[in-house]
Amino acid sequence: MDKVVNSAVRIAFIYAVFSGLWILFSDFAVETFIDSANLRALAQTYKGLIFVFVTAMMLLLLVYRNNRALEKTNDLDGLTGLYSINMFIRSLDKSIRSLHSHEQIILGYLDIDDFKALNETIGFDRADMFLRELAADISKATLAGSVTARLHADQFASFALINTDEAFDMDDHVLSFQRLFAKRAKHNGINVTCCIGVALYPTDGRNAKELMVSATEALEIAKKQQNAIQYHDRVLTEKAMQRRQLVLDLRQAIENETLSVVYQPKYNLKTLAVSGVEVLVRWVHEKHGFVSPADFIPLAEDNYLTSAISKFVVGKAAKELAGAGLLNGILQHISINVSATEFNNIDEMRVLAKFIKSLEYFANYVRIEITETATLTDMSQSVDIISDLQQSGITFSIDDFGTGYTSLTMLKDLTVDEIKIDRSFISEIEHDERSKTIVNAIIVMAKSFGVNIVAEGIETEQQLSLLQNMGCEEAQGFYLAKPMPIEDLTRHIKQLNP
Ligand code: C2E
Ligand code: MG
Ligand code: MG
Repeated sequence: MDKVVNSAVRIAFIYAVFSGLWILFSDFAVETFIDSANLRALAQTYKGLIFVFVTAMMLLLLVYRNNRALEKTNDLDGLTGLYSINMFIRSLDKSIRSLHSHEQIILGYLDIDDFKALNETIGFDRADMFLRELAADISKATLAGSVTARLHADQFASFALINTDEAFDMDDHVLSFQRLFAKRAKHNGINVTCCIGVALYPTDGRNAKELMVSATEALEIAKKQQNAIQYHDRVLTEKAMQRRQLVLDLRQAIENETLSVVYQPKYNLKTLAVSGVEVLVRWVHEKHGFVSPADFIPLAEDNYLTSAISKFVVGKAAKELAGAGLLNGILQHISINVSATEFNNIDEMRVLAKFIKSLEYFANYVRIEITETATLTDMSQSVDIISDLQQSGITFSIDDFGTGYTSLTMLKDLTVDEIKIDRSFISEIEHDERSKTIVNAIIVMAKSFGVNIVAEGIETEQQLSLLQNMGCEEAQGFYLAKPMPIEDLTRHIKQLNP
């Protein structure tokens, strides 16, 4: 700001001095050297024109010089004196355009691991000093013709030209930056590491922007670990791009309500009547066709879409089941799957509970299925969430029981209403005595806790009769019925539960 004010004052000052002098001296010269009145009038006119022309030229020159100076300060990073991001892009672009056929460009991004924590532990001044010294090290160490910049707070970029006719150890070149970083950190007594993402021109991008995107993607992958180096890999990027597109499509599908739900019946093993249903979400993608929830739920979890999906599933199931006249006591429970991240977010669970409660005719049927791994992160919070929602009449089930590491701890600490033995055990009970013994033990234990027990994934008649003999209360599986749309479910229930 000071610079702007100073340069404006300077321009005004030069203008005032020049104009004042011009008016004084030119009038004096006209009065002194020109006698004729006509010539004097003419001289006054031309004098004015000359004044306008000369001042215009001067202003042009001053403004041009000022702008250049401003541009120069924008081209450099204030803290380190390295190039700024804009200047870096321009230089990279220029180098790409003037590249010879025997040359390649190697672009590296270096990002400090957990810089925020570093700032907090050593303070901003020491962190700034570290960045300045690191910048000096990096610019000293780069190859001839290379350009270095500070892109963001703790992110540096450097590109260099490689002569493909000569031997060049790329790994060593990249590692040298990490070594240099470690040396500087050690010298400053700081315990910190960095990650590096690397992209190559022309393999990883056709212009500066594309190459920089590739380096960012490589860095993103490296940042999943610490002290890591990642070269850009087309396959990885294409996968990342497909994933991104799939997330966009999923978001669209949720907004446009083009997802749907199916129902898999749950049977009472004594009567073989339908006792409940599990609601399963379905997504038929315009291009890829059926996408399994096992694939898109994890995507939804990473992109904060699970609560929108749950809301959709609950809303849709409530509407369809009520519309089909199935909420009249035939079904005891309607099971809804809640994903791990959603379950661990107490606010999201409250919002979901509120929504369920707002559907009064439906709320009492709802049983929330949580997978064992979902409750792992914070057991005491899980206990709180479950008991809080149980007070509203919602019941809980542990899905895929036996697959996590906490099965018994969960039974000890959580007052759930149901346990679903994972399919992996059920599929083995015919042939594997140990699986059979485990299933038997789970059934006995669940019963002694007064918890309802469901076997998942029954695929054969023999599995069914074994479970019946073991005293398992309920079962679900392809042998009994596959997940089906509401029309088929209505027909199925009317046949079985007349
Ligand atoms: P899950 O909750 O354990 O659901 C049971 C899955 O096993 C379903 O797969 C079902 O079709 C399948 N299945 C049932 N019986 C059998 C059988 O006899 N044999 C075999 N091989 N499979 C059987 P689906 O629908 O593909 O769902 C996969 C998982 O995706 C679910 O596992 C659940 O964790 C999740 N999921 C499904 N719908 C939702 C939803 O609306 N929200 C959330 N958060 N997750 C969901
Ligand atoms: Mg389930
Ligand atoms: Mg399951």
